[in-house]
Amino acid sequence: MNPPAVPPHLSVVVPMFDEEAVIGLFVERLRPVLDDLGETYEVLVVDDGSRDTTPALLEKSRRDWEQLRIVRLRANAGHQAALSAGLMRARGQWVATIDADLQDPPETIAAMLAAAQERSADVVYGVRNDRTTDSMFKRHTANVYYRLIRRLVGHHVPADAGDFRLMSRATVDAVNRLPAQNRVLRLVIPALGFPSTQVEYRREERAAGTTKYPLARMIRLSVDSLTGFSIAPLRLATWFGLGGAAVTALLFAVAFGAFVTDHTLPGWTSTFLVVAGVGAVQLLCLGIMGEYVGRLYTQLQGRPTYHVAYDSSEDVLQG
Ligand code: UDP
Ligand code: MG
Repeated sequence: MNPPAVPPHLSVVVPMFDEEAVIGLFVERLRPVLDDLGETYEVLVVDDGSRDTTPALLEKSRRDWEQLRIVRLRANAGHQAALSAGLMRARGQWVATIDADLQDPPETIAAMLAAAQERSADVVYGVRNDRTTDSMFKRHTANVYYRLIRRLVGHHVPADAGDFRLMSRATVDAVNRLPAQNRVLRLVIPALGFPSTQVEYRREERAAGTTKYPLARMIRLSVDSLTGFSIAPLRLATWFGLGGAAVTALLFAVAFGAFVTDHTLPGWTSTFLVVAGVGAVQLLCLGIMGEYVGRLYTQLQGRPTYHVAYDSSEDVLQG
């Protein structure tokens, strides 16, 4: 299939990593929604280096769904990088991004398109008004995450807006021009300042399969969010230093007082604790600095964050 001369009205970008359990359900639910829009569209699935039968199942779905396009990454690059790959290749006048596990209801895409038109917005955020289907742990950590981010990065970041959103072509072009390293889209996009609006939706339960966001990845996303958009952690290191200096000054005064009044202070434990405490804080601060140095380093190298193995729309032999 050659790329269509006229860009479609809508591109739906779907990152997928080992989603064999959910593909059938997803296609079944997404397709009627898009067919009913009465507009041209493409569905761009970014297969993020899946190791299960996802590629084969996608290939099978593509046989009777002409609008389905598959972009396969060579190796697992992570949710954000997979989304970036999709945004880079999407051709639509509007681009929606949605998870494959049906936690984001596809029907909401229609509501987003309508909201964009009615309220002349370039970006429509999907905001979860009900997270009862998420685990207690996920809800609490998400709450802390959004509060921290809004405080440190800015209140223009909508709370409880994940990566389910609709963007205009202008917005997507602007995102694509930004550096790709450690990009956290939910923070980058509000910072662009395009007129935006929100559509609320109910976060559903994962339709099948298991989460691809284990704790380690949640922590990674949080660290990227904090260090990528704020130098507050570096300032925190300064405050630690100042606090430590103040405590030391106090201790010095006490020790000096004891010395001049000829009282020796017993002190093995206290010395040990101070040394260990100071060492820990120093390592922490070094770690914080290391995060920023690491970011500079990867940014400077400018290595791509993902590698595309193939794009079904360019693959004439397969078409
Ligand atoms: N995903 C991906 N690459 C990854 C991890 C996740 O493309 O390395 C996709 C995944 O297939 C899904 C979306 O990102 O479509 C969100 O992942 P998931 O539903 O597992 O996260 P959760 O909803 O549990 O936070
Ligand atoms: Mg999910």
